[in-house]
Amino acid sequence: MKYYSTNKKVSGVSLSDAVIKGLAEDKGLFMPDHILEIPAMFYENIDKMSFEDMAYTAAYMLFGEDVHANMLKMIVHDTLNFDVPLVKVEENIYSLELFHGPTLAFKDVGGRFMSRMLSYFIQRQHDNDKLVNVLVATSGDTGSAVANGFLGVEGIHVYVLYPKGLVSPIQECQFTTLGQNITALEVDGTFDDCQALVKAAFMDDELNAKMKLTSANSINVARFLPQAFYYFYAYAQLKAISEAAANNMVVCVPSGNFGNITAGLFAKRMGLPIKRFIAANNRNDIFLEYLKTGEYKPRPSVSTIANAMDVGDPSNFARVLDLYGGSHQAISKEISGVSYTDERIAETLKTCKKETGYLLDPHGACGYRALKEMLQPGEVGVFLETAHPAKFLETVEGILGEKVEIPEKLQEFMKGEKKSEAMTKQFDDFKAYLLTSPQPSTKERE
Ligand SMILES: *Cc1c(COP(=O)(O)O)cnc(C)c1O
Repeated sequence: MKYYSTNKKVSGVSLSDAVIKGLAEDKGLFMPDHILEIPAMFYENIDKMSFEDMAYTAAYMLFGEDVHANMLKMIVHDTLNFDVPLVKVEENIYSLELFHGPTLAFKDVGGRFMSRMLSYFIQRQHDNDKLVNVLVATSGDTGSAVANGFLGVEGIHVYVLYPKGLVSPIQECQFTTLGQNITALEVDGTFDDCQALVKAAFMDDELNAKMKLTSANSINVARFLPQAFYYFYAYAQLKAISEAAANNMVVCVPSGNFGNITAGLFAKRMGLPIKRFIAANNRNDIFLEYLKTGEYKPRPSVSTIANAMDVGDPSNFARVLDLYGGSHQAISKEISGVSYTDERIAETLKTCKKETGYLLDPHGACGYRALKEMLQPGEVGVFLETAHPAKFLETVEGILGEKVEIPEKLQEFMKGEKKSEAMTKQFDDFKAYLLTSPQPSTKERE
């Protein structure tokens, strides 16, 4: 499969180059040349398949031409070592719990898959003796999923840049206590400063001549495409309950950078019968505005209690546009939008707990509420519960006025010793730091 850029100036790129580069040279996002439909037989039997088997079938359609079958099977197996249960919240509304992985958020799926695929492609390259440096800027969740995905992976070093004092203590411990091949850099600045440092590093000739650099956010095809897997599993689990329900499935995705929902759009193109999508936003409602006006107007993000969706210029919007040939009408037919204030999110979290007993996180709360308000008669809704409520402990406990249980996995992170290096927001300092970092070749280290 070849990949082209959404800016259309680059095409014919191999999967391996697309994964290693992350972003195309014309600054567009990579898209596969075509999307293969999975034969109808697959959908007929899907409710009898294991999650891993159906994920492998989807992975084969996406990556089968470029990755050896056994290797691809291993990557899928390694990625999905946790469950993604579909849980009934109330009549016709289900939660797809994506938070049972190592860092308790859906980004574990893409983080793990990408780390394994990247190391496979690096090993296959001729200059495989050079250490690859993954730079990732985070406002909280991405850093932990990427760091945990890459932990202990041979030949790769990860630098997580995070804004000092602006991530929650629980989020911070998930990437500062790991050690090994993970270095946390505490930047004296905002998330935007962190991102600017990473971008400047990719542009710097001297740095790129000396060391191999790559990025690991959802612009990378190996990070966002595997997120398609669990849409199939949502359908399969619903079909096992009721075939009629499955065939009227509406999926609601709490969205920030729109990588997650775009993976769902790919699943639909692969033949998965999803009736329609709802993109749930917090007050950062650039997409909803686009649906209303046909104009895409990015603006600086505002901070909300569903902070993983505080995005003012969703990078994967370019992919959504590309999938529908730029047609506002076609997009509006398949995706609707909604936006909630912090007050609405808090109220929803509280009411849902009281009326159904189900504990939402602030992001999932947007998804649940959208289904309650927007489902049509006969439709059955599934919202993606993107993170465990305990990841937003202070917020959720504050809203409910009661203690939230912290899962064992999270407690383990909190016991570790925090280690990070202080960094200014000046690029010269960051560059000097990277240039003096040891770059052992894989061969020397073995
Ligand atoms: C990243 C994230 C989102 C937004 O996902 P996108 O793919 O960026 O749209 C939503 N909820 C949580 C908890 C997240 O971490």
